[in-house]
Amino acid sequence: MKIHNFSAGPCILPKEILLKASEAVMDFNGSGLSLIEISHRSKDFVAVMENARSLALELLDLTDKGYQALFLHGGASLEFLMVAYNLLENKAGYLNTGTWSDKAIKEAKLFGDVVEVGSSKDENFKYIPKGYSVPDGLDYLHITSNNTIFGTQFKKFPKTDAPLVCDMSSDIFSRSLDFSQFDLIYAGAQKNMGPAGVTLVVVKEDILGKVSRKIPSMLDYKVHISKDSMFNTPPVFPVYTSMLTLEWLKNLGGIAAIEEINEKKARLLYSEIDLNPVFEGYANIEDRSLMNATFNLTDESLKTTFENMLKEAGINGLNGHRSVGGYRASMYNALSLESVGVLVDVMSEMERKG
Ligand code: PLP
Repeated sequence: MKIHNFSAGPCILPKEILLKASEAVMDFNGSGLSLIEISHRSKDFVAVMENARSLALELLDLTDKGYQALFLHGGASLEFLMVAYNLLENKAGYLNTGTWSDKAIKEAKLFGDVVEVGSSKDENFKYIPKGYSVPDGLDYLHITSNNTIFGTQFKKFPKTDAPLVCDMSSDIFSRSLDFSQFDLIYAGAQKNMGPAGVTLVVVKEDILGKVSRKIPSMLDYKVHISKDSMFNTPPVFPVYTSMLTLEWLKNLGGIAAIEEINEKKARLLYSEIDLNPVFEGYANIEDRSLMNATFNLTDESLKTTFENMLKEAGINGLNGHRSVGGYRASMYNALSLESVGVLVDVMSEMERKG
């Protein structure tokens, strides 16, 4: 039976990428050696790292604009503190839009003053705050573009003179934006790029080198830049797989092409959620995420029936995060429109049965 993988991350990747990546684990570039057996300093792997870095900038339309792309260890969670280590001298602003922003705030507080410029905590992060004013004199403003757990997503980004830092872990490469409005973007690979174990950081070089503290080498973006993202042994398999996914996306027509498909998937699912009385959406309509749709049953007694039907249809990974409950359908780049169609068919069947 075909499985439709709606997991929130780690999540679905294109099947052809999985196949290519697994082939490289057995025999990398016809060398007779595995990708994970060779030196990361070998010509073939250095080419992979270079290709991955330049594809990331190319897809974001940030080539030759003063940005550097890095593939680092430690997940997005390490970036919560690396951002502050490298940029926070006195005071930083944060928009608190969910669990991940909350965690980023906690880490930043270890390094300086943190102003919560806006928050949607009062309604369990159902919405994206609006109407806030950004104070002057911030070292940077941090936002989370897509809130994986609550299913909300920024449609417009704050305007500020301070560097804008964005955790884009769960919607990078999924929609067209003017990426040059951000000075630093970071994203764990395990949604739209590859396996967990590597984090993409795209940073505008001229925001670095302005804090007075000494920064340990592994946590210093400038050190990683000076070593072409090879300061120490990189996670070769996640980097290689991410490179393949970025190539796949480029061949598909880039972000604009995948955005069109992502919008179709989201439209199909949200219209079912809105028209079907058996279900109700969680996030405010205007702030809904194209990547993670959160919803509940209007009658909890239907839970077992619905979940049995999901299982029979091969639908995997639909449970909501424990802090929200209900259901969450994650529709990352590699999820097909057909899979969303299968979920919507199950939902309409529920209505007919109801
Ligand atoms: N930020 C966002 C928006 C996320 O969705 C996640 C994980 O799901 C993280 C940060 C944490 O990422 P990691 O597990 O790579 O540290």
